[in-house]
Amino acid sequence: CGVFGVVGVTDAANFVALGLHALQHRGQEAGGIVSYHPDHGFNSARRFGYVRDNFTKQSLMETLPGDLAIGHVRYSTAGSKGQTAIRDVQPFFGEFSMGGAAIAHNGNITNADALRRELIERGSIFQSSSDSECIIHLMARSLQRRVPERMQDALRRVEGAFSVVAMTRTKLIGVRDPLGVRPLVLGKIGDEGYALSSETCALDIIGAELVREVEPGEMVVIEGGKVHSHRPFAPAGSRFCIFEHVYFSRPDSILGGRSVYETRRQIGVELAREAPVEADLVCPVPDSGTPAAIGFAHESGIPYGMGIIRNQYMGRTFIEPTEQIRNMGVRLKLNVNRALIEGKRVILVDDSVVRGTTSRKIKEMILDAGAKEVHFRIASPPTAWPCFYGVDTPQREKLLAATMSEDEMRDHLAVDSLKFISLDGLYRAVGEAEGRNKACPQYCDACFSGEYPVTPADMIEKGFEM
Ligand code: 5GP
Ligand code: SF4
Ligand code: MG
Repeated sequence: CGVFGVVGVTDAANFVALGLHALQHRGQEAGGIVSYHPDHGFNSARRFGYVRDNFTKQSLMETLPGDLAIGHVRYSTAGSKGQTAIRDVQPFFGEFSMGGAAIAHNGNITNADALRRELIERGSIFQSSSDSECIIHLMARSLQRRVPERMQDALRRVEGAFSVVAMTRTKLIGVRDPLGVRPLVLGKIGDEGYALSSETCALDIIGAELVREVEPGEMVVIEGGKVHSHRPFAPAGSRFCIFEHVYFSRPDSILGGRSVYETRRQIGVELAREAPVEADLVCPVPDSGTPAAIGFAHESGIPYGMGIIRNQYMGRTFIEPTEQIRNMGVRLKLNVNRALIEGKRVILVDDSVVRGTTSRKIKEMILDAGAKEVHFRIASPPTAWPCFYGVDTPQREKLLAATMSEDEMRDHLAVDSLKFISLDGLYRAVGEAEGRNKACPQYCDACFSGEYPVTPADMIEKGFEM
C-alpha cells in the first residue's frame, strides 16, 4: 500500500490526490482521502479503482476541503482474504473524547487476529476486515488524553510492519515500526507546509523537497509549521524491506539515500558477474526487470533490446487479486517484439519468480516468436518464503522455490538456463560492500532467507512453520 499526507497548504486534498497518483504502483485496488476544515470538520471519500479516475473530479474534491489531509492506496495482503469491500478501504477514522483522528497504514500487523479477538471481547465493534483497524480501536481504549499519546499506546501493542500516516484537527503524524520495514519520508512544501509519503517520487509530483526519512521507531508530529520527533519504542536495529529496492518502490524514488534505479542497475551488474552466459540479446521483462537488464547488458557487453513490449494500460500483474486474472494478465500486458527476437539467443531479466506463471508464459511467447535459446536471469534470490509484512506473496506451497531447487525450476520452466542473484550479491547491490551480515542482517530478507525479523504470531497459530 501507499500512504501520503500534507499539512499547511490550501486544498490539501488535491495535493494528496497527486501524491497518491504517484504512489499508485503500491496499490491499485482502491484509494481514500480524509481532510479536515475548521468549518466543515472531517470529511472522507473512499473509492475503488485508480486515483486518477476518482480523485480528479471537482464534484468529489470539493467535498474534501481544508489545509490538512491524508490518503491511502490499497492492495490487499495476506491478512485480508479475497475481495476488498469498500469498508476495508482506508483511511480509517475514529472519534475520541478529545476529537477525531484518521489513520492510513502501510504494512501488515502480524498479531492482528489476536488483537481483534481481544478487542471484540472487550466491546469493540469492528467495521472492516482489515488488520489496520485494530490501531483505531486500541487508540480508543487508551487512557491517554492526546491523540499522539493514544497512538503510541496503541502501536506499542502492535507487532509487525507499519508505516502510519495519521491526522487530527491540527496535527499531521507519521510513525514507522521499530524495524522500519516499510518506507516513510518527510518532505517540505513552501514555507509552512509539510508532507509525509511512502516514497520520494510522490514528493516530486507536488514540488515538495525531501527533508529526510522518518526513522525506524520514530514518530513525527507536525503542528503549527514545526516537526516534533518522538521515540515511543525500545530501540532496535533497522530491518528495511530489501524487496522495496528490488521491485516494490518506483525506480525514481530514493530509499535510504540510494537511487532505486541505480540499485536495480547494480543488481544487473552483479548478476552478469555471477551468472554470465553467451547470448545475442539482453531483454527486460518490463517494467520491473528493466533497470537490472540495463545493468546486465552494460556489464556483459551483450546488446540490450526491448524484446517484450508492455501495454501501458495494464496494471501490475501481481497486484491483481485472483490467480485467474493473474494468469490472463501476462498476455493482456506483455507481447513479444518478434522482429527483434527471431533467431536470437535471448537473456530475459526479471525481478523475481514467485509462482513461476509469468516466467513460463513469457518463455512460451519468446520461443513462439522464434528465439533460439532462452536464459532467465532473476534480480532477486529465489522467493522461498511468504511475506507477512505487507507484500502479498502466496502460501508457501505455491512458491516455486519452496519446493524446487534452481535446477528443478529450470527444468520446470523448460528454459536453457535459469540463475538468481545470490543474497550476498543483492546486498552488495544495495550498497553493503561486505554483503549480508549473517549474525545481524542489515535488511529484512525473510522471503528469500526464511529468517523472519518479527515472529508472525497469527500465522504460527494457523499452523505456519518457520
Ligand atoms: P509469478 O508469475 O512468478 O508468480 O510472478 C512474478 C512476477 O510478479 C514478477 O515478475 C514481479 O514483477 C511480479 N510481482 C508483482 N508483485 C510482486 C510481489 O509482491 N512479489 C514478487 N516477488 N513479485 C511480484
Ligand atoms: Fe520485504 Fe520480503 Fe521482508 Fe516481506 S519478507 S518485508 S517482501 S524482504
Ligand atoms: Mg515483473
